[in-house]
Amino acid sequence: MFQSGYTMMHEHVTIDLSGVKKDPDCRLDCKDQTIEEFRALKELGVGNVLEVTNLGMGRDVDYIMDVARASGINILVCTGFYKEPFLPDYVYTSSEEELADLMVAEIEEGIGKSGVKASAIGEFGTSKGRMTDMERKVFRSCAMAARRTGRLVTTHTTLGTLGIEQADYLISMGLDPSRIVIGHMDLSNDIPLILRLLERGVSIGFDTVGKLDYAPDSFRLEALRAIFDKGFQDQVVLSMDITRKSHLKANGGLGYSYLFTSFVPYLMANGFTRQDVDRLLVDNPARLLGGDA
Ligand SMILES: [Zn+2]
Repeated sequence: MFQSGYTMMHEHVTIDLSGVKKDPDCRLDCKDQTIEEFRALKELGVGNVLEVTNLGMGRDVDYIMDVARASGINILVCTGFYKEPFLPDYVYTSSEEELADLMVAEIEEGIGKSGVKASAIGEFGTSKGRMTDMERKVFRSCAMAARRTGRLVTTHTTLGTLGIEQADYLISMGLDPSRIVIGHMDLSNDIPLILRLLERGVSIGFDTVGKLDYAPDSFRLEALRAIFDKGFQDQVVLSMDITRKSHLKANGGLGYSYLFTSFVPYLMANGFTRQDVDRLLVDNPARLLGGDA
């Protein structure tokens, strides 16, 4: 059940990209610490988290539900495929229809024997500055599944590249822009590009808050100002995109709660109101997901 409170729109409870990345830090499997952090999120007013780990990224629905139960947070799970080189082998050999059928089944019937149904399609994405043939195939099959189910699609851009191309491709396949979230656009470091993308009517994720090596939070502040000034404030959602062991507080990272304990206060110290913050963290997510959770 979709709960009241804040919603984080792009998170990973557990994820394993360590095989491809050859880095054990990319296997986020610290359940006890995650439960501790999620309990703190609940205290901070978080009601829902969209978990965007999918097939090929080490999605583990039982693990996710353990964290949901232990924390009281409603965690929504996704179906879909990520990007090259993280795609399962069968993505290469199956037809687009077969891939769409699999996603529709995970939405309508449930994931494996878990009984848990996927709420959204994502995060599927593109490589840095290019969309490979196989990524195009994934986009087409995800769009097919979205047309059949009406579910939200949520994407991954690599460092904010190809956001406009992703949006135009999905819209060209008949998707309603109001059911599309283009992810990681805060990493683009490019406000004019972000505004051009928003003109398409899609929503965007400022979903890597705290990834300061890639984009300082001062950029996120400045870009949000421009977005509000131009009247696009209904088209942005926020999240942290925690993916590594080292992102957790216990391991010296910022943790999931940084969004609420540091970033929101930073926005409010710089002219944003409580109502503005609620728009990004309550109203926009509820409109995008509330009907499907
Ligand atoms: Zn991503």
